[in-house]
Amino acid sequence: MTEHRGVAPFAASPFASWLAGDPEVATLLAAEAERQSTTLQLIASENFTSPAVLAASGSVLTNKYAEGYPGRRYYGGNQVVDEVEDLARQRAKDLFGAEHANVQPHAGAIANLAVYQALVDPGDTILAMRLDQGGHLTHGSPASITSKIWRFVSYGVTAASDDDGRPGEVIDFDQVADLAKRERPKLIVAGATAYSRQIPAEPFRDIADSVGARLMFDLAHPAGLVAGGAHPSPVGVADVVTFTTHKTLRGPRGGAIVCRAELAKAVDSAVFPGLQGGPLEHVVAAKAVAFREAATPAFRVYAAQVVANAQALARGLAAEGFRVVSNGTENHLVLLDLRPFDAELTGKEAQEVLDRSGITLNRNTIPDDPRSPFVTSGLRLGTAAQTTAGMQEAEMGAVAALIGRALRRRADEASIRAVRAEVFDLCAAFPPYPSLDAGTPTAGRT
Ligand SMILES: *Cc1c(COP(=O)(O)O)cnc(C)c1O
Repeated sequence: MTEHRGVAPFAASPFASWLAGDPEVATLLAAEAERQSTTLQLIASENFTSPAVLAASGSVLTNKYAEGYPGRRYYGGNQVVDEVEDLARQRAKDLFGAEHANVQPHAGAIANLAVYQALVDPGDTILAMRLDQGGHLTHGSPASITSKIWRFVSYGVTAASDDDGRPGEVIDFDQVADLAKRERPKLIVAGATAYSRQIPAEPFRDIADSVGARLMFDLAHPAGLVAGGAHPSPVGVADVVTFTTHKTLRGPRGGAIVCRAELAKAVDSAVFPGLQGGPLEHVVAAKAVAFREAATPAFRVYAAQVVANAQALARGLAAEGFRVVSNGTENHLVLLDLRPFDAELTGKEAQEVLDRSGITLNRNTIPDDPRSPFVTSGLRLGTAAQTTAGMQEAEMGAVAALIGRALRRRADEASIRAVRAEVFDLCAAFPPYPSLDAGTPTAGRT
């Protein structure tokens, strides 16, 4: 576990030293920078942004009210902000080849809500993926407001394959088609939060067209893989594509929407004034920075490496005795079934043991999980962050071995401490922010 030393060699932002007047917050930020730098970040929805993204999101743009859109604001003084948001929108359109972009959603969840609001009347039916099969809370979970406003019908994945090497546990398109025919949804949602295969947009398009439904693609997780050319793009196939900017896309925390010009007005007014007040223009600027980074050749190399790393991690974990859901991965994440490794081991306990070992990931339900979503029989791991830090296939093999060791000898504190020490050494060789740590005085340093 990270200790609060108050003195850390890790900078939390390019402006960390400006926090010297607030030692309480400065110390916490330095402690978090240390945690991120000295433990393995394997949460599939996380990444390390560039220092440039940190700089834009820590900028004076946070001071500005800009309700409305470029050229149509409700407050004065938005000449510069209009240029910032126009730049972000243009870069998003160029990156994804889209006709229209809205870069204001504060989060991926808000982007989804906005699209539902733009395209579906309250009480009407939406067909989306079941949460316990890989879908997201905003795809109609009973715990989400979405299920109280719209009527959701859910599809899932096929059965696990019988060890013949074929990928089972893939989206059941026969079921999607049957449900679409029977339930006549206004909107079909493609996209998932815990699913390790590519999701093709075309079969969803065909089904949507056959019942006169619109198609929304929730690209929250693989947006960076699409931008980097490692996955086919649903833009132009789906009517609307929502995504987060902070997962594989490696930008600031936030959401965005791209769509055909015909839907621009409906989408824009659903975001503002439909759901939000003033946009976070400092985050919009940081999104612009991230879109530019994601358009570079280096980002294509990155996206391909993320997938290669996930495949190496999946192979390593299978060799440790875990079952890889769907027999492998085509994206940045690996979903593990813990039961063949140890029938007693729950996702909850595994997450806790690995946390103590310096390996940060999350428990996750697996398809048809007999345990509750709070306990689970699975783990979800992602390679987006550690690939940013420079790790490759060899390191993924080492990580898989460390996970196996930590969980196999979880009753032995000395063994966990030994794994923690090896994780520390591995992370020291791949610092996420070498330029910050080398160049900037750190807050809290005495
Ligand atoms: C992460 C995610 C979201 C929501 O993103 P937030 O920014 O956390 O609101 C929506 N849909 C899917 C499929 C996701 O994975």
